Amino acid sequence: MIIAVYILVALFGLSLGSFLNVVIYRLPKGYSIVSPRSFCPNCRRQLPWYENIPVFSYIFLKGRCRGCGAKISIQYPLIELIGALTAIGVFAVYDISIDAFFVFLFLMALIAVTLIDWRYRIIPDQISLPFILLGIGWSLLSPARSPSSAALGALLGGGGLFLIGYLYKLIRHVDGMGGGDVKLMAMIGAFLGVRMLLPVILIASLTGSVYGIYLMRKGGDAKSMVAFGSFLAPAAAICLFFGEQFLRYYFARF
Ligand SMILES: [Zn+2]
Repeated sequence: MIIAVYILVALFGLSLGSFLNVVIYRLPKGYSIVSPRSFCPNCRRQLPWYENIPVFSYIFLKGRCRGCGAKISIQYPLIELIGALTAIGVFAVYDISIDAFFVFLFLMALIAVTLIDWRYRIIPDQISLPFILLGIGWSLLSPARSPSSAALGALLGGGGLFLIGYLYKLIRHVDGMGGGDVKLMAMIGAFLGVRMLLPVILIASLTGSVYGIYLMRKGGDAKSMVAFGSFLAPAAAICLFFGEQFLRYYFARF
Protein backbone atom coordinates (compact mmCIF):
# COMPACT_ATOMS: atom_id res chain seq x y z
CA MET A 1 0.00 0.00 0.00
CA ILE A 2 2.70 2.47 1.03
CA ILE A 3 4.60 1.63 -2.19
CA ALA A 4 1.54 2.61 -4.23
CA VAL A 5 1.52 5.99 -2.47
CA TYR A 6 5.21 6.50 -3.23
CA ILE A 7 4.62 5.62 -6.90
CA LEU A 8 1.80 8.18 -7.06
CA VAL A 9 4.04 10.79 -5.42
CA ALA A 10 6.84 9.97 -7.89
CA LEU A 11 4.45 10.31 -10.88
CA PHE A 12 3.22 13.61 -9.50
CA GLY A 13 6.86 14.76 -9.17
CA LEU A 14 7.66 13.62 -12.73
CA SER A 15 4.82 15.66 -14.19
CA LEU A 16 5.72 18.72 -12.10
CA GLY A 17 9.32 18.27 -13.31
CA SER A 18 7.96 18.26 -16.85
CA PHE A 19 6.15 21.54 -16.12
CA LEU A 20 9.38 22.90 -14.65
CA ASN A 21 11.10 22.24 -18.00
CA VAL A 22 8.47 24.35 -19.71
CA VAL A 23 8.98 27.17 -17.16
CA ILE A 24 12.78 27.05 -17.51
CA TYR A 25 12.61 27.07 -21.30
CA ARG A 26 9.84 29.61 -21.84
CA LEU A 27 9.86 32.13 -18.97
CA PRO A 28 13.24 33.78 -19.78
CA LYS A 29 12.20 34.09 -23.43
CA GLY A 30 8.91 35.76 -22.49
CA TYR A 31 6.75 32.94 -23.94
CA SER A 32 3.50 31.85 -22.33
CA ILE A 33 3.89 28.81 -20.10
CA VAL A 34 0.38 27.50 -20.80
CA SER A 35 0.12 27.63 -24.59
CA PRO A 36 1.02 26.39 -27.14
CA ARG A 37 1.47 22.73 -26.23
CA SER A 38 5.00 21.31 -25.98
CA PHE A 39 6.98 21.49 -29.19
CA CYS A 40 10.43 20.55 -30.49
CA PRO A 41 12.66 23.65 -30.03
CA ASN A 42 14.41 22.80 -33.31
CA CYS A 43 11.63 22.09 -35.84
CA ARG A 44 8.69 23.56 -33.84
CA ARG A 45 6.64 20.39 -34.40
CA GLN A 46 4.01 20.01 -31.64
CA LEU A 47 4.50 16.86 -29.62
CA PRO A 48 1.71 14.29 -29.40
CA TRP A 49 1.03 13.16 -25.80
CA TYR A 50 2.99 9.92 -26.18
CA GLU A 51 6.15 11.86 -27.08
CA ASN A 52 5.71 14.07 -24.05
CA ILE A 53 5.65 11.50 -21.22
CA PRO A 54 8.28 12.41 -18.62
CA VAL A 55 11.51 10.36 -18.85
CA PHE A 56 9.85 7.45 -20.69
CA SER A 57 9.45 9.37 -23.97
CA TYR A 58 13.11 10.39 -23.85
CA ILE A 59 14.15 6.74 -23.54
CA PHE A 60 11.59 5.56 -26.11
CA LEU A 61 12.72 8.27 -28.61
CA LYS A 62 16.40 7.51 -27.82
CA GLY A 63 16.93 11.21 -27.08
CA ARG A 64 16.03 12.47 -30.57
CA CYS A 65 13.09 14.36 -32.08
CA ARG A 66 11.04 12.07 -34.33
CA GLY A 67 10.38 14.91 -36.77
CA CYS A 68 13.82 16.39 -37.42
CA GLY A 69 16.19 14.03 -35.62
CA ALA A 70 17.58 16.86 -33.44
CA LYS A 71 19.05 15.77 -30.14
CA ILE A 72 16.78 16.33 -27.14
CA SER A 73 18.74 17.87 -24.26
CA ILE A 74 19.46 15.46 -21.41
CA GLN A 75 18.33 18.34 -19.18
CA TYR A 76 14.66 17.43 -19.82
CA PRO A 77 14.64 13.91 -18.35
CA LEU A 78 17.09 15.03 -15.63
CA ILE A 79 14.79 17.82 -14.41
CA GLU A 80 11.85 15.37 -14.53
CA LEU A 81 13.81 12.91 -12.37
CA ILE A 82 14.79 15.72 -9.99
CA GLY A 83 11.08 16.60 -9.74
CA ALA A 84 10.26 13.00 -8.82
CA LEU A 85 13.09 12.76 -6.26
CA THR A 86 12.10 16.09 -4.72
CA ALA A 87 8.48 14.97 -4.38
CA ILE A 88 9.55 11.68 -2.75
CA GLY A 89 11.95 13.49 -0.40
CA VAL A 90 9.36 16.06 0.66
CA PHE A 91 6.73 13.34 1.16
CA ALA A 92 9.15 11.28 3.28
CA VAL A 93 9.87 14.25 5.56
CA TYR A 94 6.51 16.07 5.66
CA ASP A 95 3.96 13.40 4.66
CA ILE A 96 0.94 14.93 2.90
CA SER A 97 0.45 18.23 4.70
CA ILE A 98 0.32 21.99 4.31
CA ASP A 99 4.06 22.09 4.99
CA ALA A 100 4.71 19.51 2.24
CA PHE A 101 2.72 21.60 -0.25
CA PHE A 102 4.65 24.81 0.40
CA VAL A 103 8.07 23.14 0.75
CA PHE A 104 7.59 21.34 -2.57
CA LEU A 105 6.54 24.55 -4.37
CA PHE A 106 9.50 26.40 -2.84
CA LEU A 107 11.98 23.73 -3.98
CA MET A 108 10.52 23.73 -7.52
CA ALA A 109 10.93 27.52 -7.64
CA LEU A 110 14.53 27.25 -6.39
CA ILE A 111 15.38 24.68 -9.09
CA ALA A 112 13.88 26.92 -11.80
CA VAL A 113 15.74 30.01 -10.48
CA THR A 114 19.05 28.13 -10.28
CA LEU A 115 18.90 26.99 -13.91
CA ILE A 116 17.42 30.18 -15.39
CA ASP A 117 19.93 32.44 -13.60
CA TRP A 118 22.79 30.11 -14.53
CA ARG A 119 21.93 30.21 -18.21
CA TYR A 120 20.34 33.61 -18.80
CA ARG A 121 21.57 35.70 -15.86
CA ILE A 122 18.07 36.74 -14.88
CA ILE A 123 15.72 35.82 -12.07
CA PRO A 124 12.17 36.26 -13.39
CA ASP A 125 9.91 38.46 -11.25
CA GLN A 126 7.11 36.03 -12.20
CA ILE A 127 8.78 33.57 -9.81
CA SER A 128 10.30 35.70 -7.04
CA LEU A 129 7.44 38.14 -6.43
CA PRO A 130 4.52 35.68 -6.04
CA PHE A 131 6.77 33.41 -3.98
CA ILE A 132 7.41 36.22 -1.46
CA LEU A 133 3.64 36.19 -0.85
CA LEU A 134 3.52 32.37 -0.84
CA GLY A 135 6.24 32.29 1.82
CA ILE A 136 4.27 34.70 4.01
CA GLY A 137 1.13 32.63 3.28
CA TRP A 138 2.89 29.47 4.48
CA SER A 139 3.82 31.15 7.78
CA LEU A 140 0.17 32.12 8.31
CA LEU A 141 -1.22 28.65 7.55
CA SER A 142 1.35 26.41 9.24
CA PRO A 143 1.42 26.26 13.05
CA ALA A 144 5.14 25.42 12.90
CA ARG A 145 6.00 28.72 11.16
CA SER A 146 6.14 32.26 12.51
CA PRO A 147 4.53 35.06 10.44
CA SER A 148 6.67 37.75 12.04
CA SER A 149 9.85 35.80 11.25
CA ALA A 150 8.69 35.34 7.64
CA ALA A 151 7.83 39.03 7.18
CA LEU A 152 11.09 40.12 8.81
CA GLY A 153 12.95 37.52 6.72
CA ALA A 154 11.55 38.97 3.49
CA LEU A 155 12.26 42.55 4.58
CA LEU A 156 15.77 42.02 5.92
CA GLY A 157 16.66 39.45 3.25
CA GLY A 158 15.78 41.81 0.40
CA GLY A 159 16.97 44.91 2.26
CA GLY A 160 20.21 43.32 3.44
CA LEU A 161 21.20 42.14 -0.02
CA PHE A 162 20.26 45.51 -1.48
CA LEU A 163 22.58 47.17 1.05
CA ILE A 164 25.44 44.77 0.30
CA GLY A 165 25.03 45.48 -3.42
CA TYR A 166 24.87 49.25 -2.76
CA LEU A 167 28.04 49.26 -0.64
CA TYR A 168 29.81 47.05 -3.19
CA LYS A 169 28.93 49.55 -5.91
CA LEU A 170 30.18 52.47 -3.80
CA ILE A 171 33.52 50.78 -3.19
CA ARG A 172 34.16 48.93 -6.45
CA HIS A 173 32.08 51.06 -8.84
CA VAL A 174 30.55 47.96 -10.49
CA ASP A 175 27.19 46.30 -10.08
CA GLY A 176 27.75 43.34 -7.80
CA MET A 177 24.13 42.50 -7.15
CA GLY A 178 21.19 42.58 -9.50
CA GLY A 179 17.64 43.54 -8.53
CA GLY A 180 16.73 39.91 -9.25
CA ASP A 181 19.04 38.72 -6.46
CA VAL A 182 17.42 41.17 -4.01
CA LYS A 183 13.90 39.89 -4.78
CA LEU A 184 15.12 36.28 -4.64
CA MET A 185 16.58 36.89 -1.19
CA ALA A 186 13.28 38.44 -0.05
CA MET A 187 11.53 35.26 -1.27
CA ILE A 188 14.04 33.05 0.56
CA GLY A 189 13.64 35.11 3.75
CA ALA A 190 9.85 34.81 3.54
CA PHE A 191 10.07 31.01 3.31
CA LEU A 192 12.91 30.26 5.71
CA GLY A 193 12.44 33.06 8.25
CA VAL A 194 14.86 35.67 9.50
CA ARG A 195 17.11 33.18 11.34
CA MET A 196 18.18 31.49 8.11
CA LEU A 197 19.31 34.63 6.26
CA LEU A 198 22.86 34.49 7.56
CA PRO A 199 23.48 30.78 6.82
CA VAL A 200 22.00 31.14 3.31
CA ILE A 201 24.18 34.15 2.45
CA LEU A 202 27.26 32.51 4.01
CA ILE A 203 26.87 29.26 2.07
CA ALA A 204 26.06 31.08 -1.19
CA SER A 205 29.01 33.48 -0.84
CA LEU A 206 31.38 30.65 -0.01
CA THR A 207 30.34 28.36 -2.88
CA GLY A 208 30.06 31.32 -5.28
CA SER A 209 33.57 32.52 -4.36
CA VAL A 210 35.06 29.05 -4.81
CA TYR A 211 33.47 28.89 -8.26
CA GLY A 212 34.67 32.45 -9.03
CA ILE A 213 38.26 31.54 -8.10
CA TYR A 214 38.01 28.44 -10.27
CA LEU A 215 36.86 30.62 -13.21
CA MET A 216 39.62 33.18 -12.68
CA ARG A 217 42.27 30.45 -12.62
CA LYS A 218 40.88 29.32 -15.95
CA GLY A 219 41.39 32.88 -17.18
CA GLY A 220 37.78 34.05 -17.08
CA ASP A 221 36.35 37.20 -15.55
CA ALA A 222 34.67 35.92 -12.39
CA LYS A 223 32.90 39.17 -11.51
CA SER A 224 30.84 39.14 -14.66
CA MET A 225 30.46 35.36 -14.86
CA VAL A 226 29.14 34.24 -11.49
CA ALA A 227 25.33 34.33 -11.38
CA PHE A 228 24.82 34.77 -7.63
CA GLY A 229 21.19 33.62 -7.75
CA SER A 230 22.23 30.16 -8.87
CA PHE A 231 24.23 29.91 -5.63
CA LEU A 232 21.64 31.57 -3.36
CA ALA A 233 18.85 29.20 -4.46
CA PRO A 234 20.71 25.90 -3.74
CA ALA A 235 21.97 27.41 -0.44
CA ALA A 236 18.33 28.06 0.50
CA ALA A 237 17.42 24.44 -0.30
CA ILE A 238 20.29 23.22 1.89
CA CYS A 239 19.21 25.50 4.76
CA LEU A 240 15.60 24.37 4.46
CA PHE A 241 16.69 20.89 5.52
CA PHE A 242 19.95 21.46 7.43
CA GLY A 243 19.79 25.12 8.50
CA GLU A 244 19.01 24.38 12.16
CA GLN A 245 21.98 21.98 12.44
CA PHE A 246 24.16 24.55 10.71
CA LEU A 247 23.13 27.29 13.16
CA ARG A 248 23.69 25.05 16.17
CA TYR A 249 27.12 24.00 14.91
CA TYR A 250 28.13 27.48 13.82
CA PHE A 251 27.15 29.29 17.00
CA ALA A 252 28.61 26.58 19.20
CA ARG A 253 32.00 27.82 17.92
CA PHE A 254 31.70 31.17 19.67
ZN1 LIG B 1 12.25 18.41 -34.12
